[in-house]
Amino acid sequence: MNFSFLRRFVLVLAFLPGLAAAQLPPGVKAGPSVEGVSQFTLANGLEVLLFPDDSKPTTTVNVTYKVGSRHENYGETGMAHLLEHLMFKGSPSFEDVWKEFGKRGMEVNGTTFYDRTNYFESFPAADETGRRAAHDDNRRAVDEAAAIGARSLVLIAGGLPKGSKDLAGAHAQVHDGIAALLPHARESGVPLAIEPLHPMYAADRACVNTLAHANDLCERLGDGSGKDLGVAVDVYHVWWDPDLAAQIARAGKRILTYHVCDWLVPTRDLLLDRGMPGDGVIDLRAIRAMVEATGYDGPIDVEIFSAQDWWKREPSEVLRICLERHQTVV
Ligand SMILES: [Zn+2]
Repeated sequence: MNFSFLRRFVLVLAFLPGLAAAQLPPGVKAGPSVEGVSQFTLANGLEVLLFPDDSKPTTTVNVTYKVGSRHENYGETGMAHLLEHLMFKGSPSFEDVWKEFGKRGMEVNGTTFYDRTNYFESFPAADETGRRAAHDDNRRAVDEAAAIGARSLVLIAGGLPKGSKDLAGAHAQVHDGIAALLPHARESGVPLAIEPLHPMYAADRACVNTLAHANDLCERLGDGSGKDLGVAVDVYHVWWDPDLAAQIARAGKRILTYHVCDWLVPTRDLLLDRGMPGDGVIDLRAIRAMVEATGYDGPIDVEIFSAQDWWKREPSEVLRICLERHQTVV
C-alpha cells in the first residue's frame, strides 16, 4: 500500500459553539462555510471541518485518512484494516490506549473502507476554559484555607457536566482535578479532604458517593502519609453504606474531619432537611466509635442544613439543644 496517502487526511470536529468564532491561529486559512459546517486548512495541509451542534452534550473528533483497501496491491490485501487495528495496540509511550481513553470518558473506535480509514472519539463537552477557571478557583480556596490556618480543605467533587450522561468521564475529571490541585495543596500545607456525598447528589453535586471511592482516590493520588489527601466523613452521606465499618477502618489516619447530624424519616428536602442528632435513624454512637477507633481525635462538626426547622429557631435554643444532644447521643 502507498503510505504517502497517510499524509493526506481530514479532521472533523463537532463541538459547542464559540470556538469556531474565535480568532484564527497563525497559519490557519478559513475556507468555505456550508450549512453550519466550516472548513479550515492548517499550514501542514490538514483540513479541519468544524460542525458546532449545541444540542449535543459531547464533542466528537473524527480523523479521516484518505487511504483504504482500494490502495492495496496484490499481496497486501487486508493491510488497511490491519493497520486500523494496530493503531489501538498502543505504543511505547502509551502502552494501554484503551485505558487512557477510558480514564477520560472517551468512547472510541475506527473503521476502514474502500477509500478511507477513520478514527473517532466522543467525550463530554465541558470546555477547557471552564475547567481552568474551576482549577484557579480551587487554588484560591487552598490559599484562603492556608491564610486562616485551616486544618484541611473539604472537596466536594461536583456532579455530571450539564447535559452529560457520562458518569465515568465525570469520575475521570474528579481524579484529574485532584491530581492537578494536590501539588499546590502540599506546598501550602493544606491537606485536601474528599467528602463523599450521598448518592442522591451524584448528578448535581458530587459524583464521589462512597467512602470506598474516596479511599481509592486517596490511595491512587496521595503520598500515603494521609497528610496531603484524606477524607471527610459525614454521617449524613455515608450512614447507609453496608461497607461503612470496613471503609472507615481503611481510611484510618486519612480521616481529616468528622461531621454529624441525623437522617430524618421522611426527609422532605434532599438538601435542606437534615435532622438534629437524635431526631433521626443514624446510629451516631456506633459510627463515632468506628471513627475514633482509627485514632481520630479532631473536632466533631455539627452540620444541620434545615431550612424548614432549625434555621427558623432562636439560635441560642439551637445551640443549647445541640450541646445537650452532643452529650447524650453523638
Ligand atoms: Zn459534611
